[in-house]
Amino acid sequence: MILCSEGYRKFYNTLLVESISCEDLYNLIPSAVEHIAGELNIGKFEMRVEFSGNGSDRDKENAFSVLYENPDGFELYAHTRSLRTPNKDRANFALFPVKGVTWNDDEKAAIDLVIRNIHSFLQKASLNDLLNMRQMTDYLTSLPNTVYFTKFCNDLNIRGVLKGYTVIFSNLKSFNYINQQLGSRVGDMVLKEYSHKLRAFYGNDELIARFGGDNFVALLKNENVEKYLDYISLVNISVASGNQTRTLGISARSGICPVAASTGNITDTIGFANSTLEYLKRNSDSDHMYFNESILKKVQKDRDIISYFRTALARKEFLVYYQPKVCMNTKRISGCEALVRWEHEGSIISPGDFVPVLENEGLICDLDFYVLERVCENIKCWVDDGIIPAKVSVNFSKLHLRNGNLVEDIMQVITKYKVNPSHLEIELTESASSDAYKALEKFVDDMRARRICTSIDDFGTGYSSLSLLKDLHVNVIKIDKSFIDDITVPGSRDRIILASILTMITGLGMDVIAEGCETPEQAAILRELNCNNIQGYLFDKPLSYEEYTRKLAEGHVYDVNIE
Ligand code: C2E
Ligand code: CA
Ligand code: CA
Repeated sequence: MILCSEGYRKFYNTLLVESISCEDLYNLIPSAVEHIAGELNIGKFEMRVEFSGNGSDRDKENAFSVLYENPDGFELYAHTRSLRTPNKDRANFALFPVKGVTWNDDEKAAIDLVIRNIHSFLQKASLNDLLNMRQMTDYLTSLPNTVYFTKFCNDLNIRGVLKGYTVIFSNLKSFNYINQQLGSRVGDMVLKEYSHKLRAFYGNDELIARFGGDNFVALLKNENVEKYLDYISLVNISVASGNQTRTLGISARSGICPVAASTGNITDTIGFANSTLEYLKRNSDSDHMYFNESILKKVQKDRDIISYFRTALARKEFLVYYQPKVCMNTKRISGCEALVRWEHEGSIISPGDFVPVLENEGLICDLDFYVLERVCENIKCWVDDGIIPAKVSVNFSKLHLRNGNLVEDIMQVITKYKVNPSHLEIELTESASSDAYKALEKFVDDMRARRICTSIDDFGTGYSSLSLLKDLHVNVIKIDKSFIDDITVPGSRDRIILASILTMITGLGMDVIAEGCETPEQAAILRELNCNNIQGYLFDKPLSYEEYTRKLAEGHVYDVNIE
């Protein structure tokens, strides 16, 4: 009885391997069959697998193999079976008896048992393959995912060829816009179609994977990098939207790191390419950039800021400085702007070094509320000490406009410190998109209803325009420094433009303040143009709480001759 035989046990145990792949199993079958060939008078054992071609890299030809052949020859009539595996491959078996033997029914039943055993092991292995493939494939685009990408790189590393490759970490330029304006369904179609085009681009020993969202990472041979960059600089994608088909030109931005320029470790190389992309997005308008050490240092510094931020907040390392705004008629303080500084390990870090980083990470909102709390605390101290506080403006990042509870959150802080809302002003910059503009408009109106002033910061730069201001009921417009830098130059166009802007703003019933005024000449011209509130180094740099409190308490009069 075959089931009890030593040979059968050996055959079975050879194939009994946990989580084996089909490919590994095919390699084991010949040695397993060896154990039972003699006992069952097997002269020849053939197997042909017809691959369905569904798999990621399995569009191979049909695999045909002779698993066993007796050197003394075999009869030419075959016992055959054809069975399917779960991934729709088909395994065809053909067994021939040794020369001079005809199998009886019992022997045929035993042979069928062997075939069914092999088949069930194949089923298990192909399920493993399917499972592995799912784990290594991106569900939306069918491109390989991070898991497969890493495995692929490791395989190249084992073959000792990885150093000839470059990692390109790319992010689509206008994808957020597409998602917002055309909807996520169109966004998904774009990603699918884009991936399809990328798939056609890479060669046999290369790979492009989707790393989530609109991030794509390519591992290409060094000599193909430029061609790829050129290709992804503009990829035309056709998408159906409603009853029309539109073509979208998709371009990407990329951070590039050759494996040879990195530590040689693939995880580091991917990280460096990603850091280069991060750096590129913040500091450059170009579409791609190669990794270098200084990028790494800057990115590392930014990461330190991000990871240390919460501790710094808890340790109260952020200080609020106050820069006076001066009334030109009285030469006294008419208000001030709260500007944050970071006191870290004995030195003062200016906001230009950390505000953009925190803004990028969405952490700035916590800092703004921290500043608002300190400001309210300080206002309360001034009032308690009998000092009349001048209105303090607090910078709020436009990221706050996503917060549906913003007004309530601000009111909660003000109420906590029992601050009179008229002592506060919120400074915001304008936004590009119409949604953000609507949110800003609503915020301004809600603040006005609660007697809190709002101002538009950096006016004259970025997106600000007079036509937008017509519907925005802010109290104050802050003219940006860049606008007044050249007003003293004879015949300067800025001066003519500024004059008309000031007339329009005051005509619309808003107050105006110029910031970044450094010379008495600039102040004189501003005054001539009816801009009576000025903030700038001409009067004071941002001052510590103590210094500012002193000037506020003494009713400081600035001794600046601007006549
Ligand atoms: P900002 O809101 O435009 O602030 C004005 C900046 O111009 C301040 O720089 C101020 O010190 C500087 N400044 C004022 N007068 C003059 C001048 O006469 N000449 C020159 N060259 N500069 C002048 P600071 O304090 O370094 O702040 C830089 C930026 O950081 C601010 O620009 C603001 O965008 C941001 N920031 C500062 N504090 C906060 C905050 O609490 N929250 C948020 N979200 N952003 C903040
Ligand atoms: Ca400001
Ligand atoms: Ca400003």
